[in-house]
Amino acid sequence: MTRAMSQSEMTSTQKTNLIHHEPIHIPSSIQPHGVLLALSHQLEILQVSNNTQNFLGKQPHDLLGQPLSTLLDTEQVKAIEQFAQHESSVHFFKLSIQTSKGEQYFDGIAHRIESTVILELEPTDSVNQVSFLSFQALVGEAIAKMRQTSNLPDFLDLVASEVQKITDFDRVMVYQFDQTGAGTVVSEIKRKDLSPYLGLHYPATDIPEQARELYKRCLLRFIPDLKAQPIELVSVENPKTHFPPVDLSLSVLRSVHPCCVEYHQNMGVAAILVIALIKEQTLWGLISCHHQTPKHIAYEVRKMCEFLGQIVSLELEHKVNQSEFDSKVKLQALQADFIESISQADNFREALVSPEPRLLDVVNAQGAAVCLDNDITLVGVTPDIEQVRALIEWADTSHGDNLFSTDSLPKLYPEAITFKNTASGLLLLRISKVRRYYILWFRPEVIQTVNWAGQPNEPIQLDADGSVTLGPRASFELWQETVRLTSLPWKSYELDSAIALRNAIVGIVLSKADELAKINQELERSNRELASFAFAASHDLKEPLRGIYNYSNVLLEDYAPLLDEDGIEYLQTVVSLSIRMETLINSLLRLSQLGQAELHLQATDLNELLHRVINVLRASRSQAHLDIRIGRPLPTVECDPVLVSEVFTNLIVNAFKYNDKPDQWVEIGYLDTDEQLEKGLLQLQQQSSAHPVFYVQDNGIGIPEHHHQNIFRLFKRLHSQEKYGGGAGAGLAISKKIVERHGGQIWVESTLSVGSVFYFTLK
Ligand code: ADP
Repeated sequence: MTRAMSQSEMTSTQKTNLIHHEPIHIPSSIQPHGVLLALSHQLEILQVSNNTQNFLGKQPHDLLGQPLSTLLDTEQVKAIEQFAQHESSVHFFKLSIQTSKGEQYFDGIAHRIESTVILELEPTDSVNQVSFLSFQALVGEAIAKMRQTSNLPDFLDLVASEVQKITDFDRVMVYQFDQTGAGTVVSEIKRKDLSPYLGLHYPATDIPEQARELYKRCLLRFIPDLKAQPIELVSVENPKTHFPPVDLSLSVLRSVHPCCVEYHQNMGVAAILVIALIKEQTLWGLISCHHQTPKHIAYEVRKMCEFLGQIVSLELEHKVNQSEFDSKVKLQALQADFIESISQADNFREALVSPEPRLLDVVNAQGAAVCLDNDITLVGVTPDIEQVRALIEWADTSHGDNLFSTDSLPKLYPEAITFKNTASGLLLLRISKVRRYYILWFRPEVIQTVNWAGQPNEPIQLDADGSVTLGPRASFELWQETVRLTSLPWKSYELDSAIALRNAIVGIVLSKADELAKINQELERSNRELASFAFAASHDLKEPLRGIYNYSNVLLEDYAPLLDEDGIEYLQTVVSLSIRMETLINSLLRLSQLGQAELHLQATDLNELLHRVINVLRASRSQAHLDIRIGRPLPTVECDPVLVSEVFTNLIVNAFKYNDKPDQWVEIGYLDTDEQLEKGLLQLQQQSSAHPVFYVQDNGIGIPEHHHQNIFRLFKRLHSQEKYGGGAGAGLAISKKIVERHGGQIWVESTLSVGSVFYFTLK
């Protein structure tokens, strides 16, 4: 890039592209701790690193264009020839080369890239393999231990510690990538005086895409001295045979990108060894070793480490699956416990929200809201109640599924920006839309939840000539942009957990409804039994009673001369008691009949009905003046006219009976919807379903407030038999039964000595 583009002119995407597309695999230079030879298929030397004099005692121009036999003896050349013809993978040779300094030993690492053979030489002390064997033993030991650990964190700790033992680096970390390529240090072994990196997060651009790709092809990267000056590659100076830059992807000596050098130097690191961890063909993570001073490790030991990395990769798949399985099992146990306690609880809400952590742990959230019948309870870190209410409204109109989840709520619902710190992630579970049962879980914006790996610098530096150099750690801002307004993602097993909870709650609600239905059925059955028992009992009691009454009368009429005055009086009491008993039994019979009899509903003009009732009353009390006032015409309603006549009769009779005023009156009327609203009998939202409220008002003796309920009980009387003309104490109980059979209610309002108003409704 030649034009001087200012950093601020670049968009974040351009910056990301720059970082991710730098061709780091063809640097045209190598690290200085070895020599690189690029050979034709016939093993003619086409390109060499410009340090052959140091290691081999020959200048590049002495080697370029020459056959390999200039350098190696016939046997060694033959071995490499054989490899060049047949193999494409990396091959390792122990080589001894005659140099100006005498015989020198090298580790020769050869590989083929298209038709070019790359031979890299790293000097080594001798050809013996003593140290290699001891490393092999260490690796063997490490593998045995790894097999024994069962959970993932312990496994990774063991990996870090065993790699540290083998390499003796100051710091060994296991670094795990997420789906976006950003990473976290998940395990670490380090020298005591170094500050810990465990738990730190790094943006994806810290290890750019092409570097991550390279790790998949070349599983180990070794840089013994980050400060060392790279050595350029020199080609044959013949334009005809011009040699293009070699692809050094698989080269062990490939030079280090300046960005990588600076990145590590900023951390105070002088040498690095990185081993790729591959799971299911993708780069799962890295074992990253740092040393504070330059450090060399023999090729064979590095190979052992690479091998160990492959074993770790193989085990990893099993351990990660095991760890996910363990979390699932843990979650399921938690769920089971949760569901059991809510199924047994009387207070459903209470069981859901306490103890608090349980509701959060079931999907690993930081906050939750439980909404039951519009009533919201908050748990943990959440938006406020009104915000939650608005969120539910929004979810109801825009998302029909019972489970809705997002890890970037503000992007879908802009109002959520104000509470991104508590709810950038939302998991909403709709249990019942009709009953307004919801559970919502929240997760904060991820930026709030990570530890930062140091302060960021600008990633792209502009050099004097206007070219661009990638700088380390600057990817922070880019990363920050990508994770802004997002939470950690909801894992599929966490969503499953929410669904399982929903199913359980629905099951519990249904089984409770089922239980209730069963209880109602049972109740109905026992009510029916009781009614038929009362009917049979009262019916059967009447017969002996009649006998007592008749025989008492016979005694009074035919045997009076044989009895004294007391005897006659006793017999008269038996007669009047049996009359009273018959009245009571008749009332009981009437009540039990009412429980069983079918209603004969029909549209009934209540004006006509009342007219008939009053006529009958007047006929039966011809001597009394009955002042009955009807304020305005009554409506026509659907009811059983015979039974409703009975209610009016009972109430009117009582109104006159319990009245000691000289001018007795009764007013009959009804309250319409407006009047009910005014009186506070109705809420505004019930307006449409309002039924008329009928009333019978008197100016009688009134009823003390503490009796307003119990006067409706069977045989409950407030006065002795002698007062107010006596009575069975059944009239109001019968009226109540009739009203309730119509689906209505009956109640009284009364002031002592002023009068009473009996209200009732017929649905
Ligand atoms: P009964 O009139 O046969 O005693 P009810 O069931 O009709 O039985 O009434 C129960 C009791 O309620 C009565 O005994 C009476 O004390 C009281 N009561 C009923 N209606 C009125 C009324 N309008 N004013 C005052 N008291 C009443």
